[in-house]
Amino acid sequence: VLRAESICKTFDGHRVLRNVSLTVERGELVSIIGPSGCGKSTFLRCLNFLEIPDTGAVTIADDSIRRDGGPWRSSDEAQAHQLRAHVGMVFQSFNLFPHRTVLDNVMLAPQVVKHVAASVIEAEARDLLAKVGLEAAALRYPATLSGGQQQRAAIARALAMRPDVMLYDEPTSALDPRVAEEVLEVMRALDREGMTQIVVTHDMRFARAASDRIVFMEAGEIVEIGDPDEIYVNAHDPRTREFLGASL
Ligand code: ATP
Ligand code: MG
Repeated sequence: VLRAESICKTFDGHRVLRNVSLTVERGELVSIIGPSGCGKSTFLRCLNFLEIPDTGAVTIADDSIRRDGGPWRSSDEAQAHQLRAHVGMVFQSFNLFPHRTVLDNVMLAPQVVKHVAASVIEAEARDLLAKVGLEAAALRYPATLSGGQQQRAAIARALAMRPDVMLYDEPTSALDPRVAEEVLEVMRALDREGMTQIVVTHDMRFARAASDRIVFMEAGEIVEIGDPDEIYVNAHDPRTREFLGASL
């Protein structure tokens, strides 16, 4: 459902991504791990063109963009817009609209983008809030919620656009472990329903227990991709072993 081919990205002459390629199948949960600064967030942002790769291609569902190092044109922006329609993104910092209720946060994007009756969208939004365990918080404002509740609201908001793929950048890093668990449980439930998910995380326990595959990045490259037990017990690359040895 998602394919990234040879993504390269340079910031101020510094090569942050070097030929990063990754294919993710429908229904997979893939975790991306690696040391701070290795390019995980940049790669994730390149997948939906929040960051524009210099070269490489991204295909999601049946939309594709190929970059050859040339200038970014408004026709490219239109293509990127189509690609983003397939993607829901969740950040470490929740990023909810502070002056809107939780329900409004979830309803806003579909209301603006889809030309469907508000009552239909509200019903869907309430279903999504129920799915993440927040039906009782629908009319509250984000600031009155715990971090875990805010992050679950952010997930519901992303799901409201019916994405094919969910991308998460350290979704639980700002949360204490007990509250983080509520968020991880929502992600596990989505996995059971067949959602495709890519998660940048420093939570090695979650990565190992919940992922179908783990991607280890270092210095702008994918060093190793494998199933969790293979990576944790039997990593092929010494860099992977060293990283996991240091973080367990
Ligand atoms: P962390 O685990 O700390 O979140 P990361 O693996 O997500 O790290 P990135 O945020 O992708 O790493 O950053 C990779 C490199 O690119 C870093 O050296 C960072 O300083 C640099 N970088 C990221 N964004 C920009 C930017 N907008 N402008 C310049 N340099 C950037
Ligand atoms: Mg990051």
